[in-house]
Amino acid sequence: MNIILLGPPGAGKGTQAKILVNEQGLVQLSTGDMLRAAVVSGSALGQEAKIVMDAGKLMPDDIMIQIISDRISQQDCENGFILDGFPRTTAQAEALDRMLGAKILPLDHVIEISVNDTVLVDRINIRVAETPEADRRDDDNAETLKHRLEVYHEQTAPILPYYESRSMLKKVDGMQPIDDVSKQIEAIITAG
Ligand code: AMP
Repeated sequence: MNIILLGPPGAGKGTQAKILVNEQGLVQLSTGDMLRAAVVSGSALGQEAKIVMDAGKLMPDDIMIQIISDRISQQDCENGFILDGFPRTTAQAEALDRMLGAKILPLDHVIEISVNDTVLVDRINIRVAETPEADRRDDDNAETLKHRLEVYHEQTAPILPYYESRSMLKKVDGMQPIDDVSKQIEAIITAG
């Protein structure tokens, strides 16, 4: 089973992906985590990613498409994967379709975790207040979130009609408690 989780930054895609990893035995493919690992490694990719991520912008499509194309070819993805943070642009969504087609892999569920911007801003303010600076992601602050939300609405939200027009998009209310969001996702998956 292959799943895409969509939704704005801070919607809980990573949290829900981890729950699906535990419950469904799928692999989580988080492009954000991959880029953060590249930053820690100090590679050329990581150096570029650090600047882009701290500014709340997006990495170039061709780089991200190559990363995901390589990753889904690996053996641990054979039982299914959850894409968390990819696709983020229409070009990425179109490339993903081509990739899956070429590898004859299905796309089983596209799930949007929907959260209002005001709730995301409230959540980040709480996180900043409660989390020691050393434990916080560099891009986890109100200023960067503002840019990330602009980029989300401009470049990522247009993917929603892309999947909607293919009758693939299912929406869950991401403003509910984590367990309730998981139950909504589980219901979609169980319904097939
Ligand atoms: P995330 O952990 O998914 O919130 O991603 C953190 C940051 O990594 C984003 O704000 C982008 O700068 C970058 N990033 C992650 N995934 C992508 C992607 N698919 N395309 C472009 N940039 C990405």
